[in-house]
Amino acid sequence: MDVTSYFKFCPHCGTALSQNAKKRPYCAVCNKVFYRNPTVGVAVVVLEPQGLLMVRRRGSYSGGWCIPCGHVEWGEEVREAAARELLEETGVRVEVGPVMEVLSNFHDPAHLTVGIWFYGRRTGGELRPGSDAEAVGFFPLNNLPHPIAFPTDVRVCAMLRKRWEEGSLEAWIRCLCGGNGAV
Ligand SMILES: [Zn+2]
Repeated sequence: MDVTSYFKFCPHCGTALSQNAKKRPYCAVCNKVFYRNPTVGVAVVVLEPQGLLMVRRRGSYSGGWCIPCGHVEWGEEVREAAARELLEETGVRVEVGPVMEVLSNFHDPAHLTVGIWFYGRRTGGELRPGSDAEAVGFFPLNNLPHPIAFPTDVRVCAMLRKRWEEGSLEAWIRCLCGGNGAV
């Protein structure tokens, strides 16, 4: 790990950190190693007859489109985080269902995340862009907006499009939902 990209000083005692044998940040005074782990990102795939729900971002990756997503906060349950982020960004309420994909995000080396893409079934709300979105909309899987902000979203979109073109998307989602999912 590159120590310079993490804490420079021990958050407990203020001593300048060194590196241990495994190159992890280390405080010799506290005899404590500081492990760095990816955070968890959650995204919700909302598919309706008119297509996939996507947002045009404001702030980080401004102008890029993504599947509505955000970070799980400390103490927050993972599906509650997914539903919260979707509501904040799109105004749409969902029941968060099964996991469609899990991928590691390496596009920002300073903020590594593990992304979880859930299937979400719309239960209410009103489609409108939230404060960190410029636009929201449903797009056909063969005509998604560009540019897509994150390489892993590109992969997820390609997977969804492939299943859709093969005619297996609905059956796959029904299977993920345990055979009784309303698609
Ligand atoms: Zn210390």
